[in-house]
Amino acid sequence: MTYPRINIYPKRIEENARAITDLARQNNIGIYSVTKATCANIEVAKAMLAGGVEGLADSRLLNLMKLRSHFGADLPLLLLRLPMLSEAEGVVRIADLSLNSEMVTIEALSKAATEQGKEHGIVLMVDLGDLREGLWPDKIIATGQKIDRLAGAYLHGLGTNLTCYGGILPTTENLQKLIDLATELEERLGRKLAWISGGNSSSLHLIEKGQVPKGINNLRIGETMLLGNDTALNCPFPGTRADAFIFQAELIEIQEKPSVPIGVVGRDAFGRIPTRPEDRGIRLRGILAAGEQDIYPGGLIPLEEGVEIVGASSDHLLVDLTNCRQELKIGAPLSFTVAYGSLLRAMTSPFVSKVVRQE
Ligand SMILES: *Cc1c(COP(=O)(O)O)cnc(C)c1O
Repeated sequence: MTYPRINIYPKRIEENARAITDLARQNNIGIYSVTKATCANIEVAKAMLAGGVEGLADSRLLNLMKLRSHFGADLPLLLLRLPMLSEAEGVVRIADLSLNSEMVTIEALSKAATEQGKEHGIVLMVDLGDLREGLWPDKIIATGQKIDRLAGAYLHGLGTNLTCYGGILPTTENLQKLIDLATELEERLGRKLAWISGGNSSSLHLIEKGQVPKGINNLRIGETMLLGNDTALNCPFPGTRADAFIFQAELIEIQEKPSVPIGVVGRDAFGRIPTRPEDRGIRLRGILAAGEQDIYPGGLIPLEEGVEIVGASSDHLLVDLTNCRQELKIGAPLSFTVAYGSLLRAMTSPFVSKVVRQE
């Protein structure tokens, strides 16, 4: 029994994956699931596949290598982050598909694919206004035609990514723009594109409301499958659950203390100037043996009623336990469900044990 730990419930992830792939299939949409928030954990990936996803996607080549060596050559793998020019050779060796926007990189992928005697699929990204990756729409037709003339690399389709930097939501209108571009490109090329990839978890609410324009046939889904939330509407997603991951850390101090620090205020462990907390008198405070190295404290949701997160330094997580009615003792763990940032931090921290639970 080591803490801190993150408990992983593959059956719950499979249930979430099933709910999403079933809904998507009714709309002729295939799902690639995204493993990056779990550092491509194999048990998580297996659960997603059992839940009916067509392929796996990750933003890092190292994670894809782990998936490739576990699942073998037949499982379709997609690299989500635009490839680094310096990793083109590895991208072709490991991934079947990658999202792209830069012709120099695409040409390097084409060269590597030719040398390796492989075909590498390019999904050309369109920036519909979120201002992360992708070409501006007016450059898509010419670039798509250029890619189509390459050897080794071929144009697999168009894609977009929204709600990542600018917080721009997918709508019927902006996704229709993607489809119109694809249709125009298909006419110029004289062939169909395999994919029109309409985004991430934030696109699922459109399927649910029957508002995804016809033509979108792929989505890349991470967060909703892992955590059961609708990232566009900020509410639970129907048919999914939020408790597929539970973080636990152990109490190492429980003491009554004032709620306002005493003395001259300088800076906290991260060089930030603390704002003065509200004076709530003497409070029962706990310290958990976990900190910023293990968990993002802002994304923890306590499972024990009455527990409040106060703050964290590198190795200490401070909680207010005044309103907690359950018996508290040194050595006992407190449990939390996690939001995306906390899941990412816990799954990528070497200090957090990953415990698979078959419940
Ligand atoms: C992370 C990522 C996704 C998955 O996003 P979720 O919000 O976790 O569904 C999809 N596409 C790209 C390009 C990504 O980087």
